Amino acid sequence: MKHLLGKICVITGAARGIGLAIAERYITEGAVVILTDKNAEAIRAEAQRLGAQALTLDVTSENDWETLAKAWPQIDVLVNNAGVTGFEDSAAPQDPENAALEDWRAVHRVNLDGTFLGCRYAIKAMREKGEGSIINISSRSGMVGIPGAAAYASSKAAIRNHSKTVALYCAQEGLNIRCNSVHPAAILTPMWEPMLGGGEDRKARMASFVTDTPLKRFGQPSEVAAIAVLLASDEGAYMTGTEITIDGGLLAG
Ligand code: NAD
Repeated sequence: MKHLLGKICVITGAARGIGLAIAERYITEGAVVILTDKNAEAIRAEAQRLGAQALTLDVTSENDWETLAKAWPQIDVLVNNAGVTGFEDSAAPQDPENAALEDWRAVHRVNLDGTFLGCRYAIKAMREKGEGSIINISSRSGMVGIPGAAAYASSKAAIRNHSKTVALYCAQEGLNIRCNSVHPAAILTPMWEPMLGGGEDRKARMASFVTDTPLKRFGQPSEVAAIAVLLASDEGAYMTGTEITIDGGLLAG
C-alpha cells in the first residue's frame, strides 16, 4: 500500500541528507515530490535522478517562497527541513559568551525564519482544500541546552514552539492542517562532516559522538524519513502540535 498516493509534497533542503532521504521515500510512497534547495545544481541533479520536480529555493528568501507559491499554489505536505548548524563554513565560536551577533542571526535566519516562511506559505497553499500536513524538522538540540551551539539550539527550540502555534492556529481556523515537529539526534549526513573530519581519528570521533546514545550508533536518514511518512500520511490524521524524538534513546534518561 502506498501511503502518500497523489499527494503533492514540497521538501526544503532536499539536495542531500535527511531532506533527500525523505524525498526518496515519499516518491516510493506514491507522492508527487517537489525537491527544493538553495543549491541549484545539486537539486536539479537529484530531482533528475529521481524523476521528480526541482525548484531552487533559499528558505530565507521571501521572493523564492513567492515563486514557489506561483508554481505550486496548492500542496498537501510541506517538510521544512533545510537547516544549518553555523559550523558549515566557519569554526567561529557559537557559545553564548563568544558568539558573534551576525553568526547568531545567520543561523536563526535559515532555521527559524525559513520555517516561519514555509509555514506561512503552506497554510495558504492548503487552505482551499482545508487539509494538509506541515512537518518541521527541529532537533534534539531544540529540547536541551547546547553550550557550544547556542544559536542552533535556540532556533530549533523556537521551531518546536512555532509548530505548536501553527497547529493550534489551523485548528482554530477550522482547518484540518496538521503541524508537528521532528527531533532527530546524530543522524549520519553530510552535516556532520566538519565535525567528523577524515583521517585515522574519524572512527574514534564517530564513536565519541554516540557514547551517550543508548543505541550506541548514528541514526540513518531513512529512519527519519519513515517518521516523515507517518506524519504526512492519513495514518497520522490525529497527530497535530506534537513532537517526535528520533535519537536512539538519548532523551529518555
Ligand atoms: P545537511 O547539511 O546534510 O543538508 C542540509 C541541506 O539544506 C543542504 O542540501 C543545504 O544545501 C540545504 N540548505 C542549507 N541552507 C539552506 C537555505 N538557506 N535554503 C535552502 N536550503 C538550504 O543536513 P541534514 O543533516 O540532512 O539536516 C537536515 C535537517 O535535519 C536540518 O534542519 C538539521 O538541523 C536537522 N537535524 C539533523 C541532525 C543530524 O544529526 N544530521 C540532527 C538533528 C536535526
